[in-house]
Amino acid sequence: MEIITENESLAVSGFYWRARDHVRALICQSLEQDGFANAFSTRTGGTSPMPHDALNLAGFDDDTAENILENRRRFLRLFEDEWTLATCWQVHGAEARIIRDVQSAYSDATEQCDALVTDAPGVLLGVKTADCVPVILGDRRTGAAAAVHAGWRGTLATIVPRTLQRMHDEFGTQAEDIRVGIGPAAGVCCYEVGLEVIDAFQERFPKADELFVHTRPGHARINLQRANRNQLIEAGVSAERIHTAPLCTMCRTDLFFSYRREKNAGRISIGRLLACIGHSNRD
Ligand SMILES: [Zn+2]
Repeated sequence: MEIITENESLAVSGFYWRARDHVRALICQSLEQDGFANAFSTRTGGTSPMPHDALNLAGFDDDTAENILENRRRFLRLFEDEWTLATCWQVHGAEARIIRDVQSAYSDATEQCDALVTDAPGVLLGVKTADCVPVILGDRRTGAAAAVHAGWRGTLATIVPRTLQRMHDEFGTQAEDIRVGIGPAAGVCCYEVGLEVIDAFQERFPKADELFVHTRPGHARINLQRANRNQLIEAGVSAERIHTAPLCTMCRTDLFFSYRREKNAGRISIGRLLACIGHSNRD
């Protein structure tokens, strides 16, 4: 296993790169130190034709099951322990699903939701993204973890604080015990939205102005990483325990799949990244 610390701003943000056989992932070091195995995947080191050697980890309508399963196998080799990956059918909603045990990790893969929560050992929660914001949460006191897919719709529907509430209801999670990794996503440098989105955020959030950089009439670039960070702070999570990866999926298509960038470039099949977290069952 190779540890890469070439980028100082990454280290300051609480992240580092881990690589093995051309497969590379971003790790939130602070969550790892709290006992949570985690990784935000990249596009390299796989077998999918997107356009080549792509580590596509989901999206069975855009790739073969053989490719995806082989890519997942390679990705999971970045982890030291054995894990059962739990995923779901994401629908840009705000529902969180509880994964009770390893068995239901398999059976719930076709359930529709956008956040997964567990305290079961051996279960690695994974949400897929290609520009949307992946958010992973770990509760150091109870061992509960969550993985959340937050696009603009999910962010508007406050899916992250709603998931935190589910963790509280199910496992007694308190906001002060939570640590959060906010992964690579379409950044405020690139992600332009229209009036529909701007108006919806301004109606819903008093401090929405700071989320936008206005571009042309009726359009602005939106900072969805910050929107989710703000919601966590509002829910009682301390700012020092929220780590945001300073990486934009639309700027860095060498590293990440970007739905918006690649669709605009005429590509038909876009790969999917996975953001994963699970509670390491050892002291
Ligand atoms: Zn960008």
